[in-house]
Amino acid sequence: SKIVIAIDGFSGCGKSSTAKAVAKALGYTYIDSGAMYRAATLHFLNNRTVLTNPKDVEKSLGSMEVGFQINPNNGKQEAYLNGLNVEDEIRTMRVSDYVSEVSKIKEVRQELVSQQQKLGKKKGVVMDGRDIGTVVFPDAELKVFMTADLSIRAERRQKEILEKGDLVEIQKIIDNLDERDKTDSSRKESPLKKAEDAVEIDTSFLEFEDQVDRIVSLAKE
Ligand code: C5P
Repeated sequence: SKIVIAIDGFSGCGKSSTAKAVAKALGYTYIDSGAMYRAATLHFLNNRTVLTNPKDVEKSLGSMEVGFQINPNNGKQEAYLNGLNVEDEIRTMRVSDYVSEVSKIKEVRQELVSQQQKLGKKKGVVMDGRDIGTVVFPDAELKVFMTADLSIRAERRQKEILEKGDLVEIQKIIDNLDERDKTDSSRKESPLKKAEDAVEIDTSFLEFEDQVDRIVSLAKE
């Protein structure tokens, strides 16, 4: 029978691409919780929301609808903010450099966690993020915690960005990943940490197909 698979870990470990491939192999739904925090961040940037002003944060949350829809142009499931496709815009450095600050806010997390829990009600779901195994789905049947060396993660991310036609200096990427890991791990509200019952997978020297197979076979156990 179908289960919930929670994949957490540090930034740029390949959680999303792995989770997507696992979902495809199992015929499950993939949900990118990070995309929801990124879309919220874009909304806050667009609204010039003052993060330290609770009224301002509340107002922005009230006018925000984030979710996933099939993009009719390519048939892919992509991120939407208030009816607009934001899949590319939420991956820019402008959003990457700000997302961990927005993700610290308790009210933001409450709102997105409750949406994520609704999306996971059906089972047959793979969700990746930072607090999926610890907070969103503490009862997930399979929890994976992914890690990899920082320099290897940065090189992979740079290649990914390059494939989209952009060149970002490696040091900028290292700083962003490192900074986000620190902020995400040290925040008060559901910090990034490995769930006690999670299986840890270090992908530094693993081939992509092998890490996918590993999780797929764990799911079938
Ligand atoms: O997964 P991704 O790297 O796109 O996530 C972007 C940021 O969103 C993370 O660095 C983190 O600050 C936040 N996030 C979070 N909780 C999640 C998923 C993402 O706080 N479940």
